[in-house]
Amino acid sequence: MQLSSLLSRFNEPETLKMAKLGRELRAKGIDITDLSLGEPDFDTPDHIKDAAKKAIDDNYSHYTPVAGYLDLREAVCKKLLRDNGLHYTPDQIVVSTGAKQSIANTVLSIVDAGDEVIIPTPYWVTYSEIVRLAGGTVKLVNTSFEHGYKITPGQLEAAITDKTRLFMFSSPCNPTGAVYSKEELGALAAVFKEHPQVFIMSDEIYEHINFIGHHESIAQFDFLKDRVVIINGLSKGFAMTGWRLGYIAAPAEIAKACDKIQGQFTSGPNAVTQRAAIAALLGDLRPTHAMVEKFKERRQKVMQLINDIPGVICNEPPGAFYIFPDVKSYFGKKTAAGETISNADDLCMYFLNTAHVSVVTGKAFGEPNCIRISFANSTQNIEKGFEKIKNALGELKAG
Ligand code: PMP
Repeated sequence: MQLSSLLSRFNEPETLKMAKLGRELRAKGIDITDLSLGEPDFDTPDHIKDAAKKAIDDNYSHYTPVAGYLDLREAVCKKLLRDNGLHYTPDQIVVSTGAKQSIANTVLSIVDAGDEVIIPTPYWVTYSEIVRLAGGTVKLVNTSFEHGYKITPGQLEAAITDKTRLFMFSSPCNPTGAVYSKEELGALAAVFKEHPQVFIMSDEIYEHINFIGHHESIAQFDFLKDRVVIINGLSKGFAMTGWRLGYIAAPAEIAKACDKIQGQFTSGPNAVTQRAAIAALLGDLRPTHAMVEKFKERRQKVMQLINDIPGVICNEPPGAFYIFPDVKSYFGKKTAAGETISNADDLCMYFLNTAHVSVVTGKAFGEPNCIRISFANSTQNIEKGFEKIKNALGELKAG
């Protein structure tokens, strides 16, 4: 069948692929421990669910403004002022069907064919693929374990050319958990100051899942704010992945462009979700904080378990809910069935098919020596998954 050439420009997300393979094996009755997915295993807090129930009874069943209800955009502005000390007005906010759509809108608003987009590795899978879909050129900059997987000002300066239009990053980072400090962001901002043609997409969806202190946004530097697009949403901090709500805070012109694009793709997001989002953004944050405490406990557990496995190097993640261990010492080894584990892809497939535990290859995030293991799972499942991983690695023989 002849389908569009657009389809061959980008790949399906590896994270979703692993989850799909896991589900298929589970459907065959196999007990798969899923440490691949990026979503809180907690329930959405009650006060948010109550707001959604009320919205249904109050007949919020009609189309909404494309950019989202005005009172929701006002709630986003209040949140940005309360939590981040940032001043925005509702015309600078566009609410979307998940942060993923916010990212797509942003890239499609800024990037033209041939434009360069700088993405520090490791990065969230979708960034590069959306840029390719938009016809842009992805320019990856490799960060290192030694620098906590954060791009340095020198690396940034060296990567920028006249063609650079956009820089995309997340802090806290998926997959490494890296969190940029105010000083580090300030040093990057100083580089951007010299390159006024570059926009910055700052993905802050893990804002609340931060184990080292206060969240810092690169939009706090006033000289840069009119080039920063903040991406955020409810999926992670409020355990609302299935509700599908993300937003941008951006210069009004970019917000208008995103509104135009969204108007053709989906229109405004689900009306009931939007009403619930107001309750989430302006309501009690204690359930969020309680969830983060749990993630912190699990992080400690996961670090103990990973440090117990020989030949694996792993940072303690300051944010998000993943560890991203370097497993290259196992490359070249052979399985009991005689197959060689050549790379992280092979290792992940070996874990899935032989040990029945699913994790994601680092290759999907631009770091082929690593794998991503999610600790957004119960302690019991984490322990079970690590037991399987440890045993499976122990069975590998020198190649
Ligand atoms: N950005 C990052 C860094 C993410 O990890 C995710 C979800 N995995 C998203 C954006 C998209 O979130 P949403 O569910 O709101 O589309």
